[in-house]
Amino acid sequence: MQSKDLLQLAEQFGSPIYVYDAEKIKSQYNRLTKAFSKVEKLRINYAMKALSNIAILQLLKEMGSGLDTVSIQEVQLGLHAGYDPEKIFYTPNGVSLEEIEEVHAMGVQINIDNLSILEQFGAKHPNVPVCIRINPHVMAGGNTNISVGHIDSKFGISIHQLPHLVRIVENTKMNIVGIHMHTGSDILDIEVFLYAAEILFDAAKNFKNLEFLDFGSGFKVPYKKDDIETDIEELGKKLSKRFNAFCTEYGKELTLIFEPGKFLVSEAGSFLVKVNVIKQTTSTVFAGVDSGFNHLIRPMLYGSQHHIENISNPKGKERFYSVVGYICETDTFANNRRISEIKEGDILSFKNAGAYCYSMASNYNSRYRPAEVLWMNGEGHLIRAHETFEDLLKNQIPLPVTTAII
Ligand SMILES: *Cc1c(COP(=O)(O)O)cnc(C)c1O
Repeated sequence: MQSKDLLQLAEQFGSPIYVYDAEKIKSQYNRLTKAFSKVEKLRINYAMKALSNIAILQLLKEMGSGLDTVSIQEVQLGLHAGYDPEKIFYTPNGVSLEEIEEVHAMGVQINIDNLSILEQFGAKHPNVPVCIRINPHVMAGGNTNISVGHIDSKFGISIHQLPHLVRIVENTKMNIVGIHMHTGSDILDIEVFLYAAEILFDAAKNFKNLEFLDFGSGFKVPYKKDDIETDIEELGKKLSKRFNAFCTEYGKELTLIFEPGKFLVSEAGSFLVKVNVIKQTTSTVFAGVDSGFNHLIRPMLYGSQHHIENISNPKGKERFYSVVGYICETDTFANNRRISEIKEGDILSFKNAGAYCYSMASNYNSRYRPAEVLWMNGEGHLIRAHETFEDLLKNQIPLPVTTAII
């Protein structure tokens, strides 16, 4: 979609708003399935924590996607959006045995990521098909905030504990149908990913009833010009070949599963904000916008760089700005960034705002969370309304007026 469409949506729906381009989500989905077209049984489970609006879930369901969920509430949202329970995977971390049992009772595939719960669950429910999450201890990316495969990571069962894991499975006679790994968020080097895959194949040989192998995600998308991204086509070629060879060796056609979040929705999203004030100090020109880390926290939380365009003045002369929010804390979106000349009232567009943006938004400073719009067939569909004052009061219980407050 084009900048003029975004500008029109900002006028139509008001700012701040998130806009998602349905075509981009579809093309990313198709790109991934095409890259792995040589694998007979492929399944994509959209990691919905990236962007959990039910309209987005419906769109991906139409495309044939399953869901990857990390909480019982995400499972409920998925069911609400119309997914069959068999199309939903549950890959939580650190949740209670009770929640896992509840999700299993909903007919959803569960994935267990620690030996304590595995043993307790296996002892109680030996016949339930279970997937196990392995930590191969492979560092996929350079950023330790988003790498989950390293030795001190809280995610998964260490590959070094495989003997203990196998013993628990034998003792409880539980039914292991899948093995899973999710090494982190940024696969920059395909060889590193393939190396981790080998560890998973090796582990898989210990289990006789497997139906699938789940390689998680970690597909990196470009955030700025000339940024590196995971070469999906290359990965598809190499991993498909190796996966098919493994199935022959294993003696069964297994399903290959991926759980992409960012890859499917990141680039489809734009976050539109209005410039409230231009403030010149002795050293900096600030552009203060009608948003803050209450709406988009990634730059402050991970140091992520979201490209920013002034869509009100795309052809303007470029100048340097620090783009900041209106929250009463330091909430710098961009420092000393070259952007075409900004005037008060202009609309700025943050790119890559599909994944981990709205889903991390809060009401901090008692501000409303933004609305969300899906751009489909040349039209903007409101898929989440702007919040109202009632939303801020919801669930709050005031003291009775007669109570003496001391
Ligand atoms: C978050 C998550 C994903 C998705 O990661 P992306 O980097 O957004 O693709 C996949 N699997 C699991 C288990 C996750 O927790």
